Amino acid sequence: MANNSGQQVVILRNNVERVPGQEALRSNIMAAKVLGNTVRTTLGPRGMDKMLVTQGSDDIVITNDGATILHQIHVEHPGAKLVVEVAETQDDECGDGTTTAVVLVGSFMEQAEHLIDSGVHPSVIAKGYNLGMLKALELLEKLSIEVTPKDKAMLKQIAKTAMTGKSIENIMDHACDVVVEAVSGVAETTGKKTLVNEDDILVKTKRSDTMSAELIKGVLIDKTRLDSLMPKKIKGVKAAFIAGPLEITKTQTKSKIKITSAEQLSAFSTAERATLKAMAEKFVENGVNVVLCQKGIADPVQYYLGENGIYALEFVPEKDLKYAAKALGGQVINKPEDLAPEVIGSAGRLDMLDDLEMTKLSECKNAKAVTILLRGSSQHLVDELERAIEDAKRVVQDVIEDGSYTIGGGSVETELSFRLREYAATEGGRVQLAIEAYAKAFEIIPKTLAENSGFDTVDKVIDLRQAHAMGQKYAGLDVFTGTVVDMKAQGVVEPKRVKRQAIQSASETAMLLIRVDDMMISKGAGQ
Ligand code: ADP
Repeated sequence: MANNSGQQVVILRNNVERVPGQEALRSNIMAAKVLGNTVRTTLGPRGMDKMLVTQGSDDIVITNDGATILHQIHVEHPGAKLVVEVAETQDDECGDGTTTAVVLVGSFMEQAEHLIDSGVHPSVIAKGYNLGMLKALELLEKLSIEVTPKDKAMLKQIAKTAMTGKSIENIMDHACDVVVEAVSGVAETTGKKTLVNEDDILVKTKRSDTMSAELIKGVLIDKTRLDSLMPKKIKGVKAAFIAGPLEITKTQTKSKIKITSAEQLSAFSTAERATLKAMAEKFVENGVNVVLCQKGIADPVQYYLGENGIYALEFVPEKDLKYAAKALGGQVINKPEDLAPEVIGSAGRLDMLDDLEMTKLSECKNAKAVTILLRGSSQHLVDELERAIEDAKRVVQDVIEDGSYTIGGGSVETELSFRLREYAATEGGRVQLAIEAYAKAFEIIPKTLAENSGFDTVDKVIDLRQAHAMGQKYAGLDVFTGTVVDMKAQGVVEPKRVKRQAIQSASETAMLLIRVDDMMISKGAGQ
């Protein structure tokens, strides 16, 4: 094409494929619906799992986590990629609610499709959806209930809702206690704000004959004592965290012998021995009885430490060393000369766990970093337990930080749907139709919960609508009995943050997709 001055203007390169108008919109609607339907069957405690297999690799993942499923299936469609982002953002922000968010986008797009079929313009739909979203978020605030971080019974219930339906039923009660204690323990309150740094809770897993979850107010390190002279148990731990080596580099190459008696020390020169002994003595002088070293510890130093009843580990990964220092309230230093009372950490006890080949430093007072040890009899069970604990950790964190929760079992969505319909009537015109469609879309959640539990979806949605029309704002579906019950009394509770994020990002993505009337796909430079 040429402009006024006769210059050639390139509008579209040859390698740009154009999907115009309605076709682009239809394609996005289809993509969102497909993804929504893909993850739908996993929603709720009675949802099914998906087995994800990567061709050409031995990796098999069995999961019902929306973000994991969508991540693994490598979506190509541009609109679908935006839906996958909804799940990813949901996971990053809240750690839960990924399936809900994706199912909601699919439902918003499906309702939009009906409106388009009946001749409503996409910009009117987007306007109605935006009004609907603002109203829904306002209503959500009113439906939420305040809670303090001290209300451990409620926090436990939040953890329980997140874990229900995972194959860890027999230890669920205990696992919930472990999670609540761990998250409450590391939460820091300044003024009115409480924050949780999720990195302060380390989850370690081990295969073992029984399934268990244990909270350790301290750390676990995947290593055991260096010398048989060292004790396997210590009460009243005083630990040093050393980043540098405890050796003279030259000697390391010269001697690879394991020193088991004082005579064998003669392999080292008198001067070397004196230097190495001085290193070990620094710890003795400072009352240290546990040494964690990121680098190597020369054999003579190990021997001297052992002789003095000091427990030592070498080549401790940097991450574990820093974590241990935080949990025990000490500091990482470079060399023994830097030892001072304020860098030495303390713990109630040390136990060498022969069966797990680990060292446990526990009973730390006011531990600001803790460890959860999970055991399970197969890798899949361990993984499932770990995912359940991770989800529960995040929801408890969300509720502690926000100080508020909402009610699950499809109750919030049914109430929103009901109230949004009332609100739509106040708008009138075509926008009313769009808000009504947006309101209807929320019913996909109770409907899917019913469907996945084998109940009649039409009957259940009608029962729920009726209950809400009669003012039972917390009425939801008991997925185990199929009855409509008060979900608050039932203890099916979820973080407000999870619902808020799901509603907001699903609505915004639907609006974004609805406004697209042209898709230009560049096939990459140079093609
Ligand atoms: P998501 O990835 O969206 O969190 P889930 O598979 O965890 O998906 O299902 C969450 C849904 O299941 C929420 O709507 C929640 O209210 C509902 N739910 C959880 N526990 C129960 C229960 N015991 N009874 C009814 N609904 C429940």
